[in-house]
Amino acid sequence: MFDNLSDKLDKAFHILKGHGKITEVNVAETLKEVRRALLDADVNFKIAKDFTTKVKDKAIGQNVLTTLQPGQLLVKLVKDELTELMGGDVSGINLSGNPTVILMSGLQGSGKTTFSGKLANYLKTKKNKKPLLVACDIYRPAAIKQLHVVGESLGIDVYSEPDNTNPVIIAQNAISFAKHQGLNVVIIDTAGRLAVDEAMMTEISNVHQAIKPHETLFVVDSMTGQDAVNTAKAFNDILNFDGVVLTKLDGDTRGGAAISIKTVVNKPIKFVGTGEKMDAIDVFYPERMAERILG
Ligand code: GDP
Repeated sequence: MFDNLSDKLDKAFHILKGHGKITEVNVAETLKEVRRALLDADVNFKIAKDFTTKVKDKAIGQNVLTTLQPGQLLVKLVKDELTELMGGDVSGINLSGNPTVILMSGLQGSGKTTFSGKLANYLKTKKNKKPLLVACDIYRPAAIKQLHVVGESLGIDVYSEPDNTNPVIIAQNAISFAKHQGLNVVIIDTAGRLAVDEAMMTEISNVHQAIKPHETLFVVDSMTGQDAVNTAKAFNDILNFDGVVLTKLDGDTRGGAAISIKTVVNKPIKFVGTGEKMDAIDVFYPERMAERILG
């Protein structure tokens, strides 16, 4: 995960090693390399620039050059700033409703259906909940079938109305169904398109307004870098979602999306997907992620 970024940051900090006495020039050079590493990881230019400015200000504020181990202190400052950039504290998921309604949003192929299954399984096995999965994609019968296959494999109920073309009604009926069946979490998988378009935005916005979910999650493929960030902005403008799910973190992702998304939409990353299997889901811990990035 983020191997390239980790390697480059490691090399950046090498500048500080092998110097008897570290100078302001060495620190500036290191931070320049850190910035280059972030840009190579597809982090937005302004975010990368602000990042190094903040670290530099802190380094000056803490008199980094006069400390015993200036290199280590600088690594710590970078780690703290990375943690902050990715969200600071861990953000939980609001499970206060009965049933709790969770709406999934995102583009087709982002991993929404897979993640809906993973989340249902996580809530069932780790949080002792009784989830219902809802197929609200009215355009692709294959998507409905996919959710049924996922649900069956997990022993989790799936609600669908293949002949209904109104996703608002399907979602509302599903919530009533859950209440009748004593199921306490409803996870609604919605239709996605290959790119942001007005019809999709209107449709999901209608569902959102009608059911007023407790949690709206935006699912995005971490491999898509800056595009992921732009898509997040478009969805957030319409839905004001509660959190982000970053999928495919197991792939050869450069890390830009993980690092930039929080700053751009000011919403936390709540979960990550780390594989195709149903147990490949992790709660997102900004600090742990920063530690992993720095190796
Ligand atoms: P949807 O169109 O948004 O519902 O996307 P899908 O859930 O159908 O996922 C699209 C593809 O990405 C499928 O082949 C999934 O198996 C795969 N996928 C989803 N999440 C992950 C993940 O975290 N890691 C990897 N490697 N593949 C994933």
